[in-house]
Amino acid sequence: MKSPGKIKRAALARDDHNEAFRCAVCGREVDAQGAGTRHRNHCPHRLSSLHLDDTPGDRAENCGGVMDAVGVWVRQDGEWALLHRCRACGAFHSNRVAADDNPALLLQLAAKPLAEPPFPLSRLCEMIGVEPSEPLERSKQNESK
Ligand SMILES: [Zn+2]
Ligand SMILES: [Zn+2]
Repeated sequence: MKSPGKIKRAALARDDHNEAFRCAVCGREVDAQGAGTRHRNHCPHRLSSLHLDDTPGDRAENCGGVMDAVGVWVRQDGEWALLHRCRACGAFHSNRVAADDNPALLLQLAAKPLAEPPFPLSRLCEMIGVEPSEPLERSKQNESK
């Protein structure tokens, strides 16, 4: 049952996961320093990864597609995690956020659903049956005019 793919996977599995790699998206060299985690599996600049693992660090996946960070979620312990989606096969993976991940990109991912709601925000009060409240100071000023 030995296939070239399995030999390749075994070779990859031998590697220390903290080894430096070149990011397939931004081309920068990424090393383990500063990650604050044993598994450096994504680029701290673009947060992108490669579809190489089935479970984190196992190198059991043959896909190899680029995985884009498409969202963040908060784990039970309060730690942020990234959601990665593979461009090639569409698989989703969750990965721990590293200490040196680009904070602007993390916040952008967290804010994106709020910035692009699936319904018009102007209709939110109407939808939940609440009267829109006006700023008190401004309405008083308007009355006095
Ligand atoms: Zn990168
Ligand atoms: Zn994939």
